[in-house]
Amino acid sequence: MKALLPRLEISLFQIQHNTRILSKLYGEKGIFLMGVSKATLGDPAIAKAMIQGGVKFIADSRIENIQKMKNAGVSAQFVLLRTALSQAEAVVQNVDISFNTELKTVRELSYYARTYRTLHRIIIMVEMGDLREGILPSDLFQFIKEVLGLPNIKIIGIGCNLACYGGIKPNNQKMCELSKLANAIEREFQINLEIVSGGNSANYEWYKSTQKVERINNLRLGESILLGCETINRKAIPDLYTNAFRLITEVIESKEKPSLPFGEICQNAFGVTPILLDRGIHHRVIIALGRQDVLISSLSPKNDLEILGSSSDHIVLDSNNHACEVGSEVEFDLDYGGLLSAMTSPFITKQFVGSSHTVAAA
Ligand SMILES: *Cc1c(COP(=O)(O)O)cnc(C)c1O
Repeated sequence: MKALLPRLEISLFQIQHNTRILSKLYGEKGIFLMGVSKATLGDPAIAKAMIQGGVKFIADSRIENIQKMKNAGVSAQFVLLRTALSQAEAVVQNVDISFNTELKTVRELSYYARTYRTLHRIIIMVEMGDLREGILPSDLFQFIKEVLGLPNIKIIGIGCNLACYGGIKPNNQKMCELSKLANAIEREFQINLEIVSGGNSANYEWYKSTQKVERINNLRLGESILLGCETINRKAIPDLYTNAFRLITEVIESKEKPSLPFGEICQNAFGVTPILLDRGIHHRVIIALGRQDVLISSLSPKNDLEILGSSSDHIVLDSNNHACEVGSEVEFDLDYGGLLSAMTSPFITKQFVGSSHTVAAA
């Protein structure tokens, strides 16, 4: 069989392993996990690997991804991380739990939940300082009071999201604050919050160092499961695989060339006048991959190849005097941004690999 290029090789075994280790680690202090599938475009096989690794909840920001997983027979509690007013009907029909911050949207969810005679469960997101989604703590009680008046909606928890937009660290103080809010809400409204969701892959350091997780009993993990790292310093987490995803493409040009452009200087294809280093004559290779496929800055080449620059469809590398014949394969590790973009590119084939042989292709 001729290998498809470019391709993203995905190890389901490694994803399952990472999920199992993380479930055990966080479980030691009473935290259960939701596996976050959004970076994989809701790939059903990857969601199944997470479930086999021990998660019972799959969370995604896109309803389309959740529909795709359900249609493919993935069996889990599905959680929607980002709820849009216009999708309220589909949310009620497809999702077990949705994250919410707007009354107008929850009213719409209530309307459709009543129409379809179901109870829709929500987690209310609280603004803890990172300034992406969330209700300010000062507005929280009024919000909950109004939601409790809506039929067919059940508040099952609260949560927060940090280290995403504003770069605010999930630490003991933030987690204590969220815990206190949970206690106060339960006291004030005589309800039970079964889920207090403290964050994402950025919560690792807090978790390792804290004596008490207080009320936090849930985290939503994407990157830690998929790439084996935490996201404050992007350090690898012990015992996890960090390259369950590898991007492979082929050399389409391999030549000795000068390292400085020659001719009259102008802007390049992306509107900048490049400043380049003179390395003399050296060996350059071009690979069949470009900005349309992947976030270039997220790629780490294997061997000692070095990315010099890129355009829509080409990446130029210094081969550091490796032969790199035309048609040979070049391999990269990816970070989260690269994973997102590579999963989205229609030009990159996704291929599941076992430890020694290919098990399935999609
Ligand atoms: C994407 C997302 C996550 C997962 O984040 P990771 O850093 O990949 O663990 C968790 N919660 C919310 C609300 C998200 O949007």
